[in-house]
Amino acid sequence: MELYSGHINKLIEELAALPGIGSKSAQRLAFHLINMPQDKVNRLANVMMEAKANIRYCKECYTLTDKDTCPVCANERRNHKLIMVVENTRDLAAYEKTNKYEGVYHVLHGAISPMIGIGPGDIKLKELMERLQGDVDEVIIATNSSLEGETTAMYISKLIKPTGIKVTRIASGVPVGGDLEYIDEVTLLRALEGRVEM
Ligand code: ZN
Repeated sequence: MELYSGHINKLIEELAALPGIGSKSAQRLAFHLINMPQDKVNRLANVMMEAKANIRYCKECYTLTDKDTCPVCANERRNHKLIMVVENTRDLAAYEKTNKYEGVYHVLHGAISPMIGIGPGDIKLKELMERLQGDVDEVIIATNSSLEGETTAMYISKLIKPTGIKVTRIASGVPVGGDLEYIDEVTLLRALEGRVEM
């Protein structure tokens, strides 16, 4: 038996498909949305559509941004010869929050995971190798310490080694399997400062 009307069920279903939202939260959110004034619902829907339509990859580091080049890449005071490789834009934001990192980034948008069929061709690796044709002193690999993150780090290190560019890995002070975005700034800085050559 269907508990709610078709429209409500559809809304609950879509919300429940979002990460971190279980069926109970999805129901709560659905009823909250339905009870919201029409103009607020319109505004929320518009913000979502506009974000989707206007956000793109930075043409240098591939982070998500509003412009062709993100603020970090556009900043001439940053060290463009130092590139930190992260899995996603949220990880980049975590390092930016420390205010101590002076280099630039490269965002992979994922990690290699043979288990779920994500190979090197599915993340922004080719784009990284293209960037390395330029003048680069060091690549810091700051992928997560999960199995996928470590696999990706090893793979990238093997790719870069023959180019002679220095490759380092952030220290393992970062908890295993921990998402970088949840780690406090002191731990992140320690991991960065304690990086070792691969
Ligand atoms: Zn950028």
